[in-house]
Amino acid sequence: MPKPGIRECVAVGRAIAAGNLLRHEGPLQLTSRFETRFAEHMGSQHALAMTSGTTALHAAMTAIGVGPGDEVLVPAYTWIATAAAPALAGAVPVLVDIDESLTMDPADLEKKITPHTKAIIPVHMANAPCDMDAIMEIARRHNLRVVEDACQAVGVSYKGRMCGSIGDIGVFSFNHFKNMNIGEGGAVVTNDAALFKRIMNFHDLGAWARPGYAEGGEPSFISGHARVTEIQGAMLDAQLSRLPGYIRGLTRSRAAVAGVLADKSDLRLSPHHDVDSAAGMTVIFETEREAIRYAERPGAYRLFDNSKHVYTNWKPILEKRSAHRDLNPWAWAHREISYDASTCARTLDILRRTCRIYLSERWPTPVARWKARALAAPSTEQTEAGGMTQPDGQTSVPAAAR
Ligand SMILES: *Cc1c(COP(=O)(O)O)cnc(C)c1O
Repeated sequence: MPKPGIRECVAVGRAIAAGNLLRHEGPLQLTSRFETRFAEHMGSQHALAMTSGTTALHAAMTAIGVGPGDEVLVPAYTWIATAAAPALAGAVPVLVDIDESLTMDPADLEKKITPHTKAIIPVHMANAPCDMDAIMEIARRHNLRVVEDACQAVGVSYKGRMCGSIGDIGVFSFNHFKNMNIGEGGAVVTNDAALFKRIMNFHDLGAWARPGYAEGGEPSFISGHARVTEIQGAMLDAQLSRLPGYIRGLTRSRAAVAGVLADKSDLRLSPHHDVDSAAGMTVIFETEREAIRYAERPGAYRLFDNSKHVYTNWKPILEKRSAHRDLNPWAWAHREISYDASTCARTLDILRRTCRIYLSERWPTPVARWKARALAAPSTEQTEAGGMTQPDGQTSVPAAAR
């Protein structure tokens, strides 16, 4: 999570000085400028900034036509927003186990498909890309839509393509904990002009009144309002320039730490779907006890302990509660959907045995190697050598939402 700094400050000052902060009217058109550059960076045709990643997921569900009676497959390890998005559109989330890569297990995904399944939301969790080749192949074979949740992997690549640019729609978050950080914010990308038009409509109740909206044949529908201002646009436009360097820094630190761990420890890194561009690092143990011990050292935490990403804690989902009883997606479902501890027991087991290792994009390689020696030391020894004080008092939970 980069910190907004002087560049963002100057950009916001310019936006304010320009005299009109509406994205459609601001004279500098900074939001549009960001969207053009972001689409280009992702290798997608269209991009739209929005107020949050959660709203962007809801927009994506609405755009692909998810609604009452539908089932949407989501991983059991993610922020609750991934599961809430289908429910906001009237559908029910169905949980899919993760594998040791911490992303959706394609084998379990295929098992969870029913005649009611409409879409899949693979989540690139903690900068770890999903097995998109396998997921896209399954989706095409079953004629399912794919909405990539790349909220925790902004700017990360998978086999030469950007996370978020591979499915029908990609969704990003720019909240404080993400790879781009403007406090709160989100975006979608897509190559599909009709889907994009529905997303535009979703985020702008006034879309039907904007010049040119009638073109293109997508009728307008009632929606909410999630437009950003030129303040967010200015910050995003300024920060996008820093994103590639930020990811490169993480990749470099990761490679240096991984090298030391391979030389000086028998720790097992989690399998990764594109090791050469890996920008995050987790280690997996044989037993829960070993993971708990390992997580005591500074710079490491056990995934199970960041409990808001563990599905057995998602209170409103577990209780199947919507704001109004008559709008409850679970009442429209064709069958009983379960979210108990046995639903995705394998996910819980993996999270109990996996620790994330904190990486900084600012570590020069010798510093990364020095930090890594403390991470490689056996658990019984004290790890004083590697102090692991984190810059700027950042927490040890880098990708936590909220
Ligand atoms: C952060 C996050 C979201 C939602 O983003 P917000 O901008 O906080 O609404 C969705 N999915 C995942 C996996 C996230 O980490």
